Amino acid sequence: MDPVFASAIFAFGLAFGSFLNVCIYRLPRGLSTVTPRSACPNCEKPISFYDNIPVLSWLLLQGRCRNCKSPISPRYLVVELLTGAMFLACYWHFGLTLATLKYCCFGFLLLGLIFTDAETQLLPDKMTLPGLALGLLFSLFVPVNDLASQFLPGLVSLPTSSSFSLTLFSFADSLLGAIVGASFIYGVGAIYLRARGVEGMGFGDVKLMAMVGAFLGLKLTMFTIFTGSIAGSLFGLWTVLAVWIKRSRRRIKQNHEPSREARRRAWASAAIALRRHQMPFGVFLGSMAIVAFFVGDQFLHWYWRMY
Ligand SMILES: [Zn+2]
Repeated sequence: MDPVFASAIFAFGLAFGSFLNVCIYRLPRGLSTVTPRSACPNCEKPISFYDNIPVLSWLLLQGRCRNCKSPISPRYLVVELLTGAMFLACYWHFGLTLATLKYCCFGFLLLGLIFTDAETQLLPDKMTLPGLALGLLFSLFVPVNDLASQFLPGLVSLPTSSSFSLTLFSFADSLLGAIVGASFIYGVGAIYLRARGVEGMGFGDVKLMAMVGAFLGLKLTMFTIFTGSIAGSLFGLWTVLAVWIKRSRRRIKQNHEPSREARRRAWASAAIALRRHQMPFGVFLGSMAIVAFFVGDQFLHWYWRMY
């Protein structure tokens, strides 16, 4: 790693992270990301350029507005640092290549979607749809190399070594990933809705997985869906257990209920809370998509070697 390039890419990441914070706040509210200038949501005073320096300003102001001293969410700091780290990791992993540019764009969109979903339970079209187009476009320059690239050359009579057909196969892989990723989540959502009567996955997740599929191709998209579902389920289980334990203790200590009865009642109420709670599934899918483009291939190699 060249230290000068590395620092420049990290600084670039911090600046993009700062812009991403604006998108996370404004896109779900239907506001423009360009105008007006950033202002404090509490006192509405515009933020001067010297209070808008990534990471440093937040630390110097100790997470408070200079004017009205109302707290500024630590999310601003976290998103900037994560975007910087992500850009740096892409450079470290893919070198000074077009792949680095591709995964910086992809990672930027994913971080934005993860935090928007966590805060507002929305996955804005203004991120997922341009992301889908960008993923398809990048497949023309950075080969996706998935199932279509393996099997299409045997099925169609195109000169397999020409760069034109290689580009075509790569695009087919990107398209296949998008279609299967989106259809799979749509199918799971439909089954979930039938089985439990509440919406577990919305159209936002379908469009998110179309975007992920276009960037990653079929294999890593399936990896994302399966590991994302496992992570989401573990999180759901952990939440319900935490709520159960807390409510049991409260019933025993404050209401002096017999412990067996308290646990039974607490379990029933925790189960109702879980059913009402909408899981931010995009958070888990988005996080596992980031894991997928860094280590998914190694994981699949290791997995297939076991059998
Ligand atoms: Zn303020």
